[in-house]
Amino acid sequence: MSTLISRNPATGEIIQEIQLTSVESMTEIFERAQSAQKQWANVPAKKRASYLLQLREVLVQRADELIDIISRENGKPQFEALSNEIIPSADLLTFFAKNAPRVLKDQRIPLVLMKHRRSDLNYWPIGVVAVISPWNYPFLLPFADIVMALVAGNAVIFKPSEVTPSVGLRIQDICSEAGLPPFVLQTVIGTGDLGAALIDKKPGKIFFTGSVATGKKVMEAAARHLIPVNLELGGKDAMIVLPDADLDYATSAALWGSMSNSGQICASVERILVHERIKEPFMELLKAKIRLLRQGPSVDGRNDIGPITLEKQKSIYSQQMEEAKAKGATFEIGGEFSSDRRYLAPTLVSGQEIEETSIYQEETFGPVAAITTFKSVAEAIEKANHNRYGLLASIITKNIPLAEDMARQLEVGTVTINEVVYTAGLGETPWGGVKDSGFGRTHSEAGLYEFVNVRHIHKPRSSWLYFKSPWWFPYTTFQYITFRLLLNLYRRSWVEKIKIFPHFLWNFIQFIKLEKRL
Ligand code: NAD
Repeated sequence: MSTLISRNPATGEIIQEIQLTSVESMTEIFERAQSAQKQWANVPAKKRASYLLQLREVLVQRADELIDIISRENGKPQFEALSNEIIPSADLLTFFAKNAPRVLKDQRIPLVLMKHRRSDLNYWPIGVVAVISPWNYPFLLPFADIVMALVAGNAVIFKPSEVTPSVGLRIQDICSEAGLPPFVLQTVIGTGDLGAALIDKKPGKIFFTGSVATGKKVMEAAARHLIPVNLELGGKDAMIVLPDADLDYATSAALWGSMSNSGQICASVERILVHERIKEPFMELLKAKIRLLRQGPSVDGRNDIGPITLEKQKSIYSQQMEEAKAKGATFEIGGEFSSDRRYLAPTLVSGQEIEETSIYQEETFGPVAAITTFKSVAEAIEKANHNRYGLLASIITKNIPLAEDMARQLEVGTVTINEVVYTAGLGETPWGGVKDSGFGRTHSEAGLYEFVNVRHIHKPRSSWLYFKSPWWFPYTTFQYITFRLLLNLYRRSWVEKIKIFPHFLWNFIQFIKLEKRL
């Protein structure tokens, strides 16, 4: 097999037949990246940031074409391709074009004791980094990592998902059109084997977004070469609806949070925890709204939910739904595939008996939400945390101080209050998880630091401050006493600190005067 055929999941139509990158060519690709990176790293950060503005211009000019290919290859509605992928990408470019040069500038560290010396942090590019990405946000996710890697002075070898290779190639196209130097970004096309071959070339760091199972393989392979990794993995995100919540607002948030992109979002609302007092009206209103959703292929922006992108995902839905049924779960709505099996009807499953089943504990990654109830805030927090994932959680309430207090107890990377999912698209704020959702951050200043090495530069404050350090050889009695007295500076009381001063000074003078440092 030397080509990859990409298809529209709504129709089966062939979108493109693409040449696979051979494993043998990876050595040459890697060498080209290394040599391009050396020159790119010498371009001042301000100049590198100016390329991002040029890239933004190309992105906006070619937006319609990009929206079309994202929607056709992934299946998501065109509106989602625009609002959840292209606009956040333009916003992210704006943020990093403006802020990256400042964030990447050297930083002074104030020293407590060593006042005659100075320490600076110097951020320098890692080198050649690998970006390996999934298909559910085929544009925004890799694009964000690529932009941050490039502005930090790295070269990137990018492997898009084999499910959405055409979108990956469009990213390469717009970067070239924006005038980025040749080979600072190279896109390789292939399946997991090619991803593994890329890791074996020993990039400086791997930025992986995908499933927990593959994340573990990536980390294992990286460990063999001692390569650092950023892992952005799956989620089983909980939405907690407190009894004071506005039901219209809460159900709309639950609807969009669980069903947009057909629920194929790492941060999708997959568990809805509703206070028992409002469960019935909440459920009825949510079901009524689900009935109004238009599911079908994306044509002229007239659908809300597209098809299931990946065939193998459907067996996960079936297995989880069957297990839940067997345990006595109530299927409030949905639960069936369309006759051509391209769609799963938006599904709501309820019942306390599902809490230990896979539909409630494992990632579904589809248009399915599981609803259970709670009696108290403490119970809601405990239930939300009782999961191996920790990506995002949301709280819907009018009581913001209470929600903030709850947020601080949730074991996740992000908590949104009266919002869902969308901060994954903000360039300014960090994105990433804890527990099985992975580690490391992307987006934001914190994310940018993932793309650089830190070099600590320690130096005299001035060139005339040039004397041998008092802790160098030889070790002597005066030296010991001087240092022992010095320790008193760390006492709490000022009296204790000052009391030793004459003694200290006398010893110090003897030490300096009598003892010659080697
Ligand atoms: P996946 O793990 O199957 O594949 C991800 C990428 O890894 C693909 O490009 C694939 O070709 C590559 N790959 C596969 N095997 C590899 C190997 N051995 N070595 C190197 N690369 C290899 O995931 P997917 O199905 O594409 O995406 C869905 C998953 O991604 C879900 O679990 C979802 O939650 C997660 N995801 C997480 C985030 C986040 O920000 N945390 C965002 C989007 C998706």
